Amino acid sequence: MTTSKVYLKAGKEESLKRFHPWIFSGAIARIENKPQEGEVVKVYTSKNEFIAIGHYQIGSIMVRVLSFKEENIDEKFWETRLEEALNLRRSLGLVDNPENNTYRLVHGEGDNLPGLIIDIYGETAVIQSHSAGMHMERTKISNALIKVMKGYISHIYYKSETTLPFKADLLSTENGFLIGGSTENVAIENGLKFQVDWLKGQKTGFFVDQRENRQLLEKYAKGRSVLNMFCYTGGFSFYAMRGGAHLVHSVDSSAKAISLTNENVALNFPSDERHQAFAEDAFKYLEEMGDKYDLIVLDPPAFAKHRDALRNALRGYTKLNAKAFEKIKPGGILFTFSCSQVVSKQDFRTAVFTAAAQSGRSVSILHQLTQPADHPINIYHPEGEYLKGLVLYVK
Ligand code: SAH
Repeated sequence: MTTSKVYLKAGKEESLKRFHPWIFSGAIARIENKPQEGEVVKVYTSKNEFIAIGHYQIGSIMVRVLSFKEENIDEKFWETRLEEALNLRRSLGLVDNPENNTYRLVHGEGDNLPGLIIDIYGETAVIQSHSAGMHMERTKISNALIKVMKGYISHIYYKSETTLPFKADLLSTENGFLIGGSTENVAIENGLKFQVDWLKGQKTGFFVDQRENRQLLEKYAKGRSVLNMFCYTGGFSFYAMRGGAHLVHSVDSSAKAISLTNENVALNFPSDERHQAFAEDAFKYLEEMGDKYDLIVLDPPAFAKHRDALRNALRGYTKLNAKAFEKIKPGGILFTFSCSQVVSKQDFRTAVFTAAAQSGRSVSILHQLTQPADHPINIYHPEGEYLKGLVLYVK
Protein backbone atom coordinates (compact mmCIF):
# COMPACT_ATOMS: atom_id res chain seq x y z
CA MET A 1 0.00 0.00 0.00
CA THR A 2 1.40 3.40 -0.91
CA THR A 3 1.39 5.94 1.87
CA SER A 4 -0.84 8.92 1.11
CA LYS A 5 0.80 12.31 0.84
CA VAL A 6 -0.34 15.57 2.36
CA TYR A 7 1.02 18.83 0.86
CA LEU A 8 1.10 22.01 2.94
CA LYS A 9 0.36 25.52 1.73
CA ALA A 10 3.41 27.76 1.26
CA GLY A 11 4.83 28.93 4.60
CA LYS A 12 2.66 26.55 6.65
CA GLU A 13 5.63 24.36 7.58
CA GLU A 14 6.90 26.90 10.14
CA SER A 15 5.20 25.32 13.20
CA LEU A 16 6.44 21.88 12.09
CA LYS A 17 10.00 23.18 11.90
CA ARG A 18 9.48 24.03 15.57
CA PHE A 19 8.28 20.44 16.15
CA HIS A 20 4.67 21.30 16.99
CA PRO A 21 2.87 17.96 16.52
CA TRP A 22 -0.48 19.13 15.05
CA ILE A 23 -1.35 20.07 11.47
CA PHE A 24 -4.59 22.02 11.12
CA SER A 25 -6.88 21.62 8.11
CA GLY A 26 -6.26 25.26 7.08
CA ALA A 27 -2.55 24.56 6.55
CA ILE A 28 -3.17 21.84 3.96
CA ALA A 29 -3.11 22.59 0.21
CA ARG A 30 -3.95 19.12 -1.11
CA ILE A 31 -4.02 15.44 -0.21
CA GLU A 32 -3.07 12.66 -2.62
CA ASN A 33 -4.55 9.14 -2.62
CA LYS A 34 -7.58 9.84 -0.38
CA PRO A 35 -6.40 8.40 2.96
CA GLN A 36 -8.82 6.68 5.31
CA GLU A 37 -9.30 8.17 8.77
CA GLY A 38 -6.55 6.94 11.05
CA GLU A 39 -4.17 6.08 8.20
CA VAL A 40 -0.49 7.01 8.37
CA VAL A 41 0.31 9.84 5.93
CA LYS A 42 3.52 11.59 4.89
CA VAL A 43 3.57 15.36 4.97
CA TYR A 44 5.45 17.56 2.46
CA THR A 45 6.06 21.29 2.23
CA SER A 46 4.91 23.30 -0.77
CA LYS A 47 8.45 22.79 -2.10
CA ASN A 48 7.93 19.02 -2.03
CA GLU A 49 10.29 18.42 0.92
CA PHE A 50 9.39 15.74 3.47
CA ILE A 51 8.64 17.28 6.87
CA ALA A 52 6.66 14.82 8.99
CA ILE A 53 4.75 11.54 9.20
CA GLY A 54 1.57 11.15 11.22
CA HIS A 55 -2.01 9.96 11.63
CA TYR A 56 -4.64 11.45 9.37
CA GLN A 57 -8.06 12.41 10.67
CA ILE A 58 -11.01 14.45 9.46
CA GLY A 59 -11.45 17.48 11.70
CA SER A 60 -9.72 20.70 12.57
CA ILE A 61 -6.50 18.84 13.52
CA MET A 62 -5.95 16.79 10.35
CA VAL A 63 -2.56 15.23 11.08
CA ARG A 64 -1.08 14.27 14.45
CA VAL A 65 2.65 13.92 13.95
CA LEU A 66 4.34 10.68 14.98
CA SER A 67 7.80 11.53 13.67
CA PHE A 68 9.71 14.33 12.01
CA LYS A 69 12.01 11.73 10.44
CA GLU A 70 11.13 9.62 7.42
CA GLU A 71 10.72 6.30 9.22
CA ASN A 72 8.36 3.33 9.14
CA ILE A 73 5.54 3.29 11.68
CA ASP A 74 5.91 -0.42 12.41
CA GLU A 75 6.21 -2.64 15.50
CA LYS A 76 9.79 -1.49 16.00
CA PHE A 77 8.61 2.14 16.06
CA TRP A 78 6.02 1.39 18.78
CA GLU A 79 8.53 -0.60 20.83
CA THR A 80 11.09 2.19 20.68
CA ARG A 81 8.60 4.89 21.70
CA LEU A 82 7.20 2.77 24.54
CA GLU A 83 10.73 1.97 25.75
CA GLU A 84 11.51 5.70 25.82
CA ALA A 85 8.36 6.32 27.85
CA LEU A 86 9.22 3.50 30.26
CA ASN A 87 12.77 4.79 30.72
CA LEU A 88 11.42 8.21 31.70
CA ARG A 89 9.12 6.63 34.33
CA ARG A 90 12.05 4.53 35.56
CA SER A 91 14.03 7.66 36.15
CA LEU A 92 11.08 9.00 38.18
CA GLY A 93 11.23 5.94 40.45
CA LEU A 94 7.71 4.90 39.47
CA VAL A 95 8.43 1.49 37.95
CA ASP A 96 8.42 -1.62 40.15
CA ASN A 97 7.64 0.34 43.30
CA PRO A 98 5.35 -1.57 45.65
CA GLU A 99 4.18 1.65 47.33
CA ASN A 100 3.06 3.04 43.97
CA ASN A 101 1.87 0.58 41.33
CA THR A 102 -0.14 3.24 39.53
CA TYR A 103 1.33 5.67 37.03
CA ARG A 104 0.93 7.09 33.54
CA LEU A 105 3.22 5.36 31.06
CA VAL A 106 2.22 7.34 27.98
CA HIS A 107 0.89 10.88 28.03
CA GLY A 108 0.06 11.76 24.41
CA GLU A 109 2.11 14.59 22.98
CA GLY A 110 4.25 14.65 26.13
CA ASP A 111 5.64 11.28 25.03
CA ASN A 112 5.61 12.11 21.32
CA LEU A 113 2.55 9.92 20.80
CA PRO A 114 -0.35 12.31 20.14
CA GLY A 115 -3.73 10.72 20.82
CA LEU A 116 -2.46 7.89 23.03
CA ILE A 117 -2.82 7.50 26.80
CA ILE A 118 -1.59 4.44 28.71
CA ASP A 119 -2.04 4.16 32.48
CA ILE A 120 -0.57 1.32 34.54
CA TYR A 121 -2.48 -0.20 37.46
CA GLY A 122 -0.40 -2.99 38.94
CA GLU A 123 -0.28 -5.79 36.35
CA THR A 124 -2.85 -4.15 34.08
CA ALA A 125 -2.30 -1.45 31.50
CA VAL A 126 -5.27 0.61 30.35
CA ILE A 127 -4.97 2.02 26.82
CA GLN A 128 -7.09 4.98 25.79
CA SER A 129 -7.14 6.31 22.22
CA HIS A 130 -8.08 9.91 21.54
CA SER A 131 -7.53 9.70 17.78
CA ALA A 132 -8.66 7.45 14.97
CA GLY A 133 -5.01 6.63 14.20
CA MET A 134 -4.22 5.28 17.65
CA HIS A 135 -7.44 3.25 17.56
CA MET A 136 -6.40 1.64 14.27
CA GLU A 137 -2.97 0.80 15.70
CA ARG A 138 -4.29 -0.67 18.97
CA THR A 139 -3.21 -4.24 18.19
CA LYS A 140 0.33 -3.21 17.25
CA ILE A 141 0.52 -0.96 20.30
CA SER A 142 -0.63 -3.66 22.68
CA ASN A 143 1.78 -6.22 21.19
CA ALA A 144 4.66 -3.77 21.61
CA LEU A 145 3.47 -2.88 25.12
CA ILE A 146 3.37 -6.46 26.37
CA LYS A 147 6.91 -6.94 25.04
CA VAL A 148 8.34 -3.73 26.50
CA MET A 149 6.55 -4.20 29.85
CA LYS A 150 7.47 -7.90 30.17
CA GLY A 151 7.63 -8.88 33.82
CA TYR A 152 5.56 -5.84 34.83
CA ILE A 153 2.17 -6.27 33.16
CA SER A 154 0.12 -9.27 31.99
CA HIS A 155 -3.21 -7.65 31.06
CA ILE A 156 -4.21 -4.87 28.67
CA TYR A 157 -7.62 -3.23 28.84
CA TYR A 158 -8.81 -0.99 26.02
CA LYS A 159 -11.07 1.88 27.08
CA SER A 160 -11.85 4.27 24.27
CA GLU A 161 -15.63 4.12 23.93
CA THR A 162 -16.09 7.73 25.03
CA THR A 163 -12.83 9.31 23.85
CA LEU A 164 -12.81 8.56 20.14
CA PRO A 165 -13.79 11.31 17.73
CA PHE A 166 -17.39 10.91 16.64
CA LYS A 167 -16.53 11.84 13.05
CA ALA A 168 -14.44 8.76 12.65
CA ASP A 169 -16.37 5.83 11.27
CA LEU A 170 -14.74 3.22 13.44
CA LEU A 171 -15.66 -0.37 13.90
CA SER A 172 -15.34 -2.19 17.21
CA THR A 173 -14.64 0.62 19.63
CA GLU A 174 -16.14 -1.19 22.59
CA ASN A 175 -14.22 -1.43 25.86
CA GLY A 176 -12.63 -4.74 26.79
CA PHE A 177 -9.44 -6.69 27.39
CA LEU A 178 -7.09 -6.94 24.40
CA ILE A 179 -4.71 -9.22 26.30
CA GLY A 180 -5.31 -11.25 29.47
CA GLY A 181 -8.28 -10.40 31.70
CA SER A 182 -7.70 -9.59 35.33
CA THR A 183 -10.32 -9.06 37.99
CA GLU A 184 -7.71 -7.63 40.36
CA ASN A 185 -8.46 -3.94 40.26
CA VAL A 186 -6.92 -2.35 43.31
CA ALA A 187 -4.42 0.41 42.57
CA ILE A 188 -1.82 1.40 45.13
CA GLU A 189 -0.79 5.04 45.31
CA ASN A 190 1.71 6.11 47.95
CA GLY A 191 0.67 3.10 50.02
CA LEU A 192 -3.07 3.86 49.82
CA LYS A 193 -5.46 1.50 48.05
CA PHE A 194 -8.06 2.43 45.44
CA GLN A 195 -10.67 0.38 43.61
CA VAL A 196 -10.36 1.18 39.93
CA ASP A 197 -13.45 0.85 37.77
CA TRP A 198 -12.04 0.22 34.30
CA LEU A 199 -15.38 -0.75 32.93
CA LYS A 200 -17.36 2.38 33.66
CA GLY A 201 -15.05 4.71 35.58
CA GLN A 202 -13.98 8.15 34.39
CA LYS A 203 -10.71 8.62 32.49
CA THR A 204 -8.90 5.26 32.64
CA GLY A 205 -10.66 4.56 35.95
CA PHE A 206 -8.73 6.80 38.33
CA PHE A 207 -7.23 10.29 38.37
CA VAL A 208 -3.55 9.41 38.33
CA ASP A 209 -2.61 13.06 37.83
CA GLN A 210 -3.30 14.22 41.39
CA ARG A 211 -0.78 11.86 43.06
CA GLU A 212 1.74 14.52 44.11
CA ASN A 213 -0.88 17.12 45.00
CA ARG A 214 -2.64 14.62 47.25
CA GLN A 215 0.67 13.96 48.95
CA LEU A 216 1.10 17.67 49.63
CA LEU A 217 -2.37 17.85 51.15
CA GLU A 218 -1.44 15.11 53.62
CA LYS A 219 1.13 17.47 55.16
CA TYR A 220 -1.50 20.14 55.83
CA ALA A 221 -4.22 17.86 57.18
CA LYS A 222 -3.29 17.42 60.84
CA GLY A 223 -6.12 18.46 63.16
CA ARG A 224 -8.12 20.03 60.33
CA SER A 225 -11.74 19.63 59.25
CA VAL A 226 -11.52 18.73 55.58
CA LEU A 227 -14.00 19.08 52.73
CA ASN A 228 -13.04 17.13 49.59
CA MET A 229 -15.36 18.60 46.97
CA PHE A 230 -15.62 16.71 43.62
CA CYS A 231 -14.08 13.71 45.37
CA TYR A 232 -14.68 11.04 42.65
CA THR A 233 -13.07 7.91 44.19
CA GLY A 234 -12.04 9.85 47.28
CA GLY A 235 -8.33 10.36 46.49
CA PHE A 236 -7.63 13.47 48.55
CA SER A 237 -9.77 12.23 51.48
CA PHE A 238 -7.54 9.29 52.35
CA TYR A 239 -4.40 11.37 52.37
CA ALA A 240 -6.20 13.80 54.69
CA MET A 241 -7.16 10.92 57.00
CA ARG A 242 -3.63 9.52 57.02
CA GLY A 243 -2.34 13.02 57.68
CA GLY A 244 -4.35 13.19 60.91
CA ALA A 245 -7.41 15.21 59.88
CA HIS A 246 -10.02 15.65 62.57
CA LEU A 247 -12.89 14.97 60.16
CA VAL A 248 -13.14 14.41 56.40
CA HIS A 249 -16.24 14.94 54.25
CA SER A 250 -16.21 13.78 50.63
CA VAL A 251 -18.79 15.22 48.22
CA ASP A 252 -19.61 14.36 44.60
CA SER A 253 -22.83 14.67 42.61
CA SER A 254 -22.42 11.11 41.31
CA ALA A 255 -23.87 8.39 43.55
CA LYS A 256 -21.51 5.90 41.86
CA ALA A 257 -18.51 8.05 42.89
CA ILE A 258 -19.75 8.19 46.46
CA SER A 259 -20.15 4.44 46.62
CA LEU A 260 -16.59 3.99 45.26
CA THR A 261 -15.35 6.45 47.89
CA ASN A 262 -17.08 4.44 50.62
CA GLU A 263 -15.53 1.21 49.31
CA ASN A 264 -12.13 2.88 49.44
CA VAL A 265 -12.69 4.02 53.03
CA ALA A 266 -13.43 0.40 53.90
CA LEU A 267 -10.19 -0.67 52.16
CA ASN A 268 -7.92 1.84 53.86
CA PHE A 269 -9.54 2.94 57.11
CA PRO A 270 -12.22 0.37 57.99
CA SER A 271 -14.91 1.78 60.31
CA ASP A 272 -13.08 5.05 60.79
CA GLU A 273 -15.79 7.44 61.90
CA ARG A 274 -13.94 10.57 60.87
CA HIS A 275 -15.12 10.10 57.28
CA GLN A 276 -18.52 10.75 55.74
CA ALA A 277 -19.50 10.93 52.07
CA PHE A 278 -22.40 12.83 50.48
CA ALA A 279 -23.90 12.58 46.98
CA GLU A 280 -24.81 16.22 46.37
CA ASP A 281 -24.36 19.05 43.91
CA ALA A 282 -21.31 21.18 44.70
CA PHE A 283 -22.98 24.57 44.58
CA LYS A 284 -25.88 23.43 46.75
CA TYR A 285 -23.53 21.85 49.30
CA LEU A 286 -21.21 24.87 49.44
CA GLU A 287 -24.20 27.16 49.91
CA GLU A 288 -25.58 25.18 52.82
CA MET A 289 -22.47 23.80 54.56
CA GLY A 290 -21.80 26.60 57.06
CA ASP A 291 -18.31 27.45 58.28
CA LYS A 292 -17.08 24.15 59.74
CA TYR A 293 -14.15 23.49 57.35
CA ASP A 294 -10.60 24.77 57.54
CA LEU A 295 -9.18 22.73 54.64
CA ILE A 296 -11.14 22.66 51.39
CA VAL A 297 -10.29 20.88 48.14
CA LEU A 298 -11.99 21.99 44.92
CA ASP A 299 -11.13 19.70 42.01
CA PRO A 300 -14.00 20.16 39.54
CA PRO A 301 -14.38 18.52 36.13
CA ALA A 302 -13.14 20.58 33.14
CA PHE A 303 -15.55 23.54 32.96
CA ALA A 304 -14.40 24.28 29.37
CA LYS A 305 -13.62 21.57 26.88
CA HIS A 306 -13.44 24.03 23.95
CA ARG A 307 -12.18 27.54 23.44
CA ASP A 308 -15.69 29.01 22.87
CA ALA A 309 -16.76 27.93 26.35
CA LEU A 310 -13.86 29.76 27.99
CA ARG A 311 -15.63 32.84 29.35
CA ASN A 312 -18.39 30.86 30.99
CA ALA A 313 -15.83 28.48 32.42
CA LEU A 314 -13.87 31.30 34.01
CA ARG A 315 -17.08 32.64 35.55
CA GLY A 316 -17.75 29.14 36.89
CA TYR A 317 -14.31 28.94 38.53
CA THR A 318 -14.82 32.37 40.11
CA LYS A 319 -18.26 31.47 41.45
CA LEU A 320 -17.05 28.18 42.87
CA ASN A 321 -13.97 29.61 44.56
CA ALA A 322 -15.90 32.62 45.88
CA LYS A 323 -18.10 30.21 47.87
CA ALA A 324 -15.06 28.55 49.40
CA PHE A 325 -13.45 31.89 50.33
CA GLU A 326 -16.73 33.02 51.87
CA LYS A 327 -17.12 29.91 54.04
CA ILE A 328 -13.63 28.71 54.96
CA LYS A 329 -12.57 29.22 58.59
CA PRO A 330 -9.95 31.89 59.38
CA GLY A 331 -6.52 30.33 58.97
CA GLY A 332 -7.98 27.89 56.45
CA ILE A 333 -6.24 26.30 53.49
CA LEU A 334 -7.78 25.97 50.05
CA PHE A 335 -6.50 23.54 47.41
CA THR A 336 -8.13 24.68 44.17
CA PHE A 337 -7.69 23.17 40.69
CA SER A 338 -8.60 23.47 37.04
CA CYS A 339 -8.04 20.60 34.62
CA SER A 340 -9.38 22.43 31.53
CA GLN A 341 -6.69 22.47 28.86
CA VAL A 342 -8.07 25.67 27.29
CA VAL A 343 -7.86 27.58 30.60
CA SER A 344 -4.34 29.01 30.94
CA LYS A 345 -2.44 29.27 34.19
CA GLN A 346 -2.94 33.04 34.11
CA ASP A 347 -6.69 32.78 33.33
CA PHE A 348 -7.17 30.43 36.24
CA ARG A 349 -5.21 32.62 38.59
CA THR A 350 -7.29 35.65 37.54
CA ALA A 351 -10.54 33.73 38.14
CA VAL A 352 -9.41 32.73 41.65
CA PHE A 353 -8.04 36.24 42.32
CA THR A 354 -11.46 37.71 41.39
CA ALA A 355 -13.17 35.30 43.78
CA ALA A 356 -10.78 36.22 46.61
CA ALA A 357 -11.38 39.93 46.03
CA GLN A 358 -15.16 39.40 46.10
CA SER A 359 -14.87 37.74 49.51
CA GLY A 360 -12.70 40.55 50.89
CA ARG A 361 -10.50 37.96 52.67
CA SER A 362 -6.74 38.24 52.90
CA VAL A 363 -5.31 35.43 50.78
CA SER A 364 -1.73 34.28 50.09
CA ILE A 365 -0.47 31.75 47.56
CA LEU A 366 1.49 28.96 49.27
CA HIS A 367 2.04 26.60 46.32
CA GLN A 368 1.48 26.62 42.58
CA LEU A 369 0.69 23.12 41.44
CA THR A 370 0.63 21.30 38.15
CA GLN A 371 0.51 17.78 36.76
CA PRO A 372 3.14 15.25 37.92
CA ALA A 373 6.21 14.29 35.91
CA ASP A 374 4.62 11.11 34.52
CA HIS A 375 2.29 13.53 32.64
CA PRO A 376 5.18 15.33 30.90
CA ILE A 377 4.72 18.43 28.77
CA ASN A 378 6.34 18.40 25.35
CA ILE A 379 8.26 21.68 25.23
CA TYR A 380 7.10 22.21 21.63
CA HIS A 381 3.46 21.65 22.64
CA PRO A 382 2.77 23.95 25.60
CA GLU A 383 -0.97 23.18 25.27
CA GLY A 384 -0.10 19.94 27.06
CA GLU A 385 0.04 21.73 30.41
CA TYR A 386 -3.55 21.17 31.49
CA LEU A 387 -3.62 20.76 35.28
CA LYS A 388 -3.29 23.93 37.33
CA GLY A 389 -3.64 24.25 41.05
CA LEU A 390 -3.15 26.80 43.81
CA VAL A 391 -2.77 26.21 47.52
CA LEU A 392 -3.99 29.29 49.33
CA TYR A 393 -3.86 30.46 52.91
CA VAL A 394 -7.01 32.37 53.89
CA LYS A 395 -6.63 34.62 56.93
N1 SAH B 1 -10.74 14.91 42.82
C1 SAH B 1 -10.96 13.68 42.12
C2 SAH B 1 -11.26 13.90 40.65
C3 SAH B 1 -12.44 14.80 40.37
S1 SAH B 1 -13.17 14.56 38.82
C4 SAH B 1 -9.78 12.74 42.33
O1 SAH B 1 -8.80 13.13 42.98
O2 SAH B 1 -9.85 11.61 41.86
C5 SAH B 1 -14.57 15.55 38.92
C6 SAH B 1 -15.73 14.97 39.71
O3 SAH B 1 -16.70 16.01 39.82
C7 SAH B 1 -16.44 13.80 39.08
O4 SAH B 1 -16.38 12.69 39.96
C8 SAH B 1 -17.90 14.27 38.90
O5 SAH B 1 -18.85 13.26 39.21
C9 SAH B 1 -17.99 15.40 39.88
N2 SAH B 1 -18.99 16.44 39.57
C10 SAH B 1 -19.30 16.95 38.36
N3 SAH B 1 -20.21 17.95 38.49
C11 SAH B 1 -20.47 18.07 39.83
C12 SAH B 1 -21.30 18.93 40.60
N4 SAH B 1 -22.05 19.87 40.03
N5 SAH B 1 -21.29 18.79 41.95
C13 SAH B 1 -20.53 17.84 42.54
N6 SAH B 1 -19.72 17.00 41.86
C14 SAH B 1 -19.68 17.10 40.52
